[in-house]
Amino acid sequence: MDYQHVIEQVMSAVQPHIGEGAVADYIPGLAKVDPNQFGCAIASVDGQLYTGGDVDVPFAIESISKAFALALVLSRKDTELWKRVRREPSGMAFNDLIELQLENGIPRNPFINAGAIVVADQLLADTGDAVNALRELLRAETGNPALEVDSVIAESELRTGDRNRAISYLMAGFGNMRNPVELALDHYFRQCSFSITCAELAKAGLLIARHGLRADGSRLLAREDARHITALMTMCGTYDGAGEYAYRIGLPTKSGVGGGLLAVVPDQCAVAAWGPGLDAKGNSAAGGVALETFARAGKFSVF
Ligand code: GLU
Repeated sequence: MDYQHVIEQVMSAVQPHIGEGAVADYIPGLAKVDPNQFGCAIASVDGQLYTGGDVDVPFAIESISKAFALALVLSRKDTELWKRVRREPSGMAFNDLIELQLENGIPRNPFINAGAIVVADQLLADTGDAVNALRELLRAETGNPALEVDSVIAESELRTGDRNRAISYLMAGFGNMRNPVELALDHYFRQCSFSITCAELAKAGLLIARHGLRADGSRLLAREDARHITALMTMCGTYDGAGEYAYRIGLPTKSGVGGGLLAVVPDQCAVAAWGPGLDAKGNSAAGGVALETFARAGKFSVF
């Protein structure tokens, strides 16, 4: 595969779309990000990195962290998790409460906020420090020993996270929280606030593209669990835009409201795109164009 050619095609297709969309403003720290930035990086399973644009500018990982937190819980062969969260697309907003109420505090999947809070809570119960477990994983897989939580974003999330607080207390009311709500939320908010670059995200995504093998060659996840993560990314990884993403791109993809996108081509590569402006569904507008071009140029769609 001529990845260099693919990245050049991506960069040229995306050019007129840079700056499109609206930055997330419900988290004040994200509202300040300059929307006119864009980066794309492809990390191949044979260790090469192909880059275009602002690939070394850090941004908030946000919901993309949910895929890595899930990987950590599954790596512990934790069977309790699937009693606490289901594996169905929700068809509702990522921070919806109505479905959660109707379904007795059991979230539809681990990638909507309710499900991700359950995963963070479970990881905290399992390890005693969910953020540190994630920090160690991300540092090792990105190769950046200084990768860290952006404390300004974390503080901003904590201050404005009442919707997540409502979700968590509702789940606690149904007996679906293991730790005190505020403690679990503190880990969830900090997990979302890790600062990461496109180049680092693509490298970290190889964990999933390699079916659970870590950068050092050791196995974190059973192959089957890595497959479960890609299935969930495909069904539920891009909010209520997952259907359209399957149609246009056809790859397991996870997005975040920081404007990041991570897609994997199993056995071949991981691609990260970042453009802070979001489309109506909350996925990076320019990033969507990038992934569509990427999938078409490399004939990568799994469908
Ligand atoms: N920290 C964000 C929230 O809980 C994550 C949302 C996202 O990226 O989808 O609202």
